[in-house]
Formats: sequence, C-alpha cells, structure tokens
Amino acid sequence: MPCFGRTTKSGRYTPTRGSIDKSPSISVTESRRDGIPAAPRSVSMESVEKHAKTPEEIETIKRAVKENEFLRNILNDEQIEQVAEAMFTQEVEENETIVRQGDEGNQMYVSQTGIYWIVINHKKIRSFSHPTVFGELAILYKAKRLATIKAITKGKVWVIKRDTYQKILIQNARTQEDELITFLKKVPNVNKLPEEKLQTLIKIFKTEFFTPDTVIVREGEIGDKFYIIRVGFASVSKQVDGKVADLVKGDFFGERALFEANDKRQATVIAQNPGAECLTLSRTQFLEYFDSNVFTIPAVENSITFSPLPEDGDIKNLKLDDLTRHATLGVGGFGRVELVYHKENKNLTFALKYLKKVDVVQQNQIPHAYNEKDIQIKCNSIFIVRLYKTFKDQKYLYFLMEPCLGGDLWTLMGKQGKARKFTEPAARFYTACVVEAFAYLHDRKCVYRDLKPENLLIDARGYLKLTDFGFAKSIGTRQTYTFAGTPEYVAPEIIFNRGHDKSADYWALGVFIFELLSGRTPFKSNDPSHMKTYQLILRGIANVNFPKWMSNNSIELVRKLCKPIPTDRLGCLKNGANDIRKQKWFDGFDWEKLRERKLKPPVVPKLSSNLDCRNFETYRPDDDIPPDDLDVWDNNF
Ligand code: ATP
Ligand code: MG
Repeated sequence: MPCFGRTTKSGRYTPTRGSIDKSPSISVTESRRDGIPAAPRSVSMESVEKHAKTPEEIETIKRAVKENEFLRNILNDEQIEQVAEAMFTQEVEENETIVRQGDEGNQMYVSQTGIYWIVINHKKIRSFSHPTVFGELAILYKAKRLATIKAITKGKVWVIKRDTYQKILIQNARTQEDELITFLKKVPNVNKLPEEKLQTLIKIFKTEFFTPDTVIVREGEIGDKFYIIRVGFASVSKQVDGKVADLVKGDFFGERALFEANDKRQATVIAQNPGAECLTLSRTQFLEYFDSNVFTIPAVENSITFSPLPEDGDIKNLKLDDLTRHATLGVGGFGRVELVYHKENKNLTFALKYLKKVDVVQQNQIPHAYNEKDIQIKCNSIFIVRLYKTFKDQKYLYFLMEPCLGGDLWTLMGKQGKARKFTEPAARFYTACVVEAFAYLHDRKCVYRDLKPENLLIDARGYLKLTDFGFAKSIGTRQTYTFAGTPEYVAPEIIFNRGHDKSADYWALGVFIFELLSGRTPFKSNDPSHMKTYQLILRGIANVNFPKWMSNNSIELVRKLCKPIPTDRLGCLKNGANDIRKQKWFDGFDWEKLRERKLKPPVVPKLSSNLDCRNFETYRPDDDIPPDDLDVWDNNF
C-alpha cells in the first residue's frame, strides 16, 4: 500500500508521515523510500472559476510564477495565464501566519503587497516584499510545509488550491487530446483505426511552425510527412489549376505519406498570414509505432486478459481461522506482512498482509486498496507475487500472498558492501525480471507506478517478483493524471501533471538500472521537500554524470529509457518491451531460459525451511489494536 502513516520498525504506528516530511538529518541513502500516493481524485471536471483582477495584478502573478524556477519549468504560458486567472485574493494582517511549518498544505500563494518573514525551525531566515510564490509544493500533492511564512505588515496574497490547479492542467491536457482525436477522425483511413491506436497516434505528433509564405510541401516532390493545421492558415495550389483551396484549423494534408513510401505530393501548400502551426508526423516516426499494414489489416483487439484465480481447493476453501502466525516479514504504511501457515499443514505457508481499515478510510485510500486487490489478484506471472485471496474482518483487510523468503531487493543491496551496487550480470538478471513483470502488466493495460528495490521480493530460488500494487492502476487506453510514485523515481510527465501511462514505468526502469549499477539513483538530492529532485528530473538524464564503472551499453539503455518525451522512450514504441530485450546490454542474455526459470540467479538465498525468516529484519508484535470499522465500504473485499 502507499504509505501515509508509518509503522516504525519498533512496531509503533505514527500517523501520516510520507517521505516528504523525512527529517533532513536522516540519511536518504539508507532509509527505505516511501511513495507519494496518488490522492484519489476528487477534482470535479466542471470549469475552473475565474476571479476578477486588474491587468496589472495578472501581470504581477505571471511574473512571480515565471521567477519561480520550479513553476517556470512545469507550466507553459497558457497554463500560467489560467493559473493567474483562477487565483483568488486574501487579505493578511500584520503578524498573521499564512503557512505554518509542518502543517499539511493544499494551496499555493503569490504575495501581491506586504512584507513577509520566512521562518524555519523558529529561526527567521529572510524577509521578502517583492511579489513571490510560496507553498508551491502543495500544488503537486499533499505536502508538509517546510517553512513558516509570516506577514510583517498588512498585505494581500493570491491563492490557488491544489484541486483547482490540477483541474486546470487535466482540462488542458484533455482538451488538447480531444481536439486532436477530432482532427484525426476526419482523416480518411486514419479514422478507421481503433480508439486505442488513435490515442497512441496523438502522442507522437510534433509541432512545427511555418512563417507566412513558407512552402510546406511542394507538388511533385517526394513526401514523408503528414500535417494537420492546429492554428493559422495555408493555401493549396496546383500547377495546372492554380489555387484550389484554403486550409484552416483542423484541415490536414500529406496523409498519403503515411500509407505509401515515396509518395509524390499532389499539390503545393504554402503557409499564409499569420503563419501556420502544424502537427506533423513523419512516416519514419509513424513506423516506429505502427506496422505499415495497420490500415489494411483489420485491427484485432488485444485478447490478452488476466488469468482466473487458481481453482486450487487448498486456497478456495481457506479461511482466516485456518492460519497461524509465525513471524513478521515486513511493516508497511497501514499494517504488516506476516508469515503464516495452515494450522493443519505446516508446509502450506503464505505471506499475509493486513491493513488497518480505519487508516485506509482516514487516508482516503479505499480506491487504492481496491486497486491493489483487483489488479494483483488477477496476475498470474512468475515475475509478480501471487495474491491468492483477500479477507476482511471488523478491523483489517487481509491479502493472502505467496511468500518470498529471500527478502527484498533493497535489503540485498545493503548486503553488497558499502557501495550497495550489483555487478552487471546481477543487475541484468534483476532488470530482466522487472521487464517481464512490466510486459505482463502493460499487455493488460495496467501501470505499476512504484518501481523501486523496496517493492521487489526474492523468492526461494533467487528470482525476483514485483509486489505492492498500492499505486497500480488499470488505465485502458487513456492516461492517468494524479501524482503517484516515489520522488526519486517519478517521470517528468508526472511532475508536469500532463498525464502518464506505461511510459512512466519505463522511465522508472531507467532509474532502477542506474541504481542497481551505481548504488544511488540519478536524480537523488538530499532536499527533504524533493523539490530539488524534481528539478533534477526535469533537467534530464543528459545532465547526469554516470559513474565511470558503468559500461557504455548500460548507459545507452538508461538514456533510452529516461528520454524526456514519453513516446520516445524505449518500451513505448511499437515493439514494446521487445525493444528493451534486444538492447546491446542484454546481448547473449537468454530470455527464454529466464521465463522457464532455468537461468542461475545471482544470489540463491540461504533457507533451511519454509518458515525460515533469516532474510528479514525482526519486528516486535504490533500492540496498536485499531478500533472496529463497521462501515460497508469493504463489501467487495
Ligand atoms: P510500504 O508502502 O511502506 O512499502 P506496504 O504497506 O505497501 O509498505 P509492502 O511493500 O507490500 O507493504 O510490504 C512491506 C514489506 O513486507 C516488504 O518490503 C517485504 O519486506 C515484506 N513483504 C511483503 N510481501 C511479502 C511477501 N509476499 N513475501 C515476503 N515478504 C513480503
Ligand atoms: Mg512497499
């Protein structure tokens, strides 16, 4: 489950602490990293309310936003304008505390007038009077305030709530998507593609601007590109007939270039005043995502589904009362994972994860608990921890899983010496297991969203399995928007709030490979707010120094996975995960043998019985018994 509250290793539960409030003095390298949960979206999609302002006030807000390094990187001019229009005003009194360090924030501010102190740990750090943005992390997710902002004089601030901000960004992205789909539905042949393929297509268009009188395509020349006019005008002419048409927004030309190689242009298209902004797609790029026969062969819907539950009688008839607790394997955000065995058959062991229902409710995590159950239970892959069954009682939800007694990969990294890194063959093996798990999930239109060594378990043979489906989501052909993931692992599009899909998992895979080979993640910073990490992520992999021991092939793979544009990423092109399997770094790696479990794992855990917990830390029993929760929200558990 995503972590809100946290049970400390001593077993004591401390409410609501995500990774964002980790004390700066804790060494981030050595502590397990919590995910930032996708707050189940309560943002309704009705239009965003605008609040009246003078043009000068709008300008002040826009300037302050552009002066803020973080916001400048994540918002475009149109979005900044919409944010400025949606901000409402608040008068502040002398000595008033506007945000308080440690409080949970859900709004961002821009000061218009007044003088303010920035106070951290009761120490006045500095004052400001110039219009300034503060509390900006809160627009991404529920975050603890890192400083107190106090008014020295009377003043006025502008405020925007996280919900409003997210609504603006989601609406922006959706409008653009819908507009493009409408355009594409007018293009012959293209409009016969199933929705899923159209959704891919709209993501791979580029934007190009043509100044007035530029010849965009010339009659008789060989063309390789398809164009849709997004803004502006163009004219079409033919040598014989002269001008034959005017093109406006939504019109398109050159589509034959997609269907046929060496297509000769039938007419000349020239940009008109004030120019034409076109969405363009070249045949070469198109063929990276689609087979050339995509228009002739009827598209068959993907028939891959999840497997049904095992019919195994042992599990089907198993009740909670049949299980005896042996030891605690792990402690998570809401509860624990225990190693249990069947009271009549000690050989039948399971990992039983249980979540406190009151915590699930209090932290708005009901949809996540259902996602965790609904997705993991349908998975039947040797690279994913099996979830057999769920139970519930008045206090807990239970997940009955296959036990993986080799411990988790995070712990194993800690056993690799101070550098915490693996050899290339070991890293290759573990990465390959994750590639297989991702390919399985993505084929079934699910995204995982929380890749990190902490969420990978080692089974008795030494094979790796993905677990903790608290952030997983079944997304179909669309994208998902809310922030989810572990800061060091999140993809730029998640920070941008632009909508993300399986491409975010492949970004994380790049980060993961880097971490396995170097012992640290590429965008790590010790800034407890993670703002610095997000900035490094936006700056991109091009600015990351790779350790000198990493091979060129591994660096090349990480770079291809951490491409800033999601659709350019390896794993997201038409051959999907196969493109990763074929990378040079995997030369000679036997994928078939891996799937048959015939490859020798890098480490085979030492185990003397199926109740041996030597690969886990020891935990004290949980003495915090939660109150009953008799509500019926868990009916389908
Ligand atoms: P968090 O969000 O804090 O990571 P969580 O509540 O989501 O925790 P999990 O990540 O699913 O819980 O599990 C917590 C720990 O319990 C794991 O890191 C692992 O050490 C152990 N664990 C979980 N599932 C199993 C399993 N099937 N077999 C063995 N150990 C397990
Ligand atoms: Mg976890």
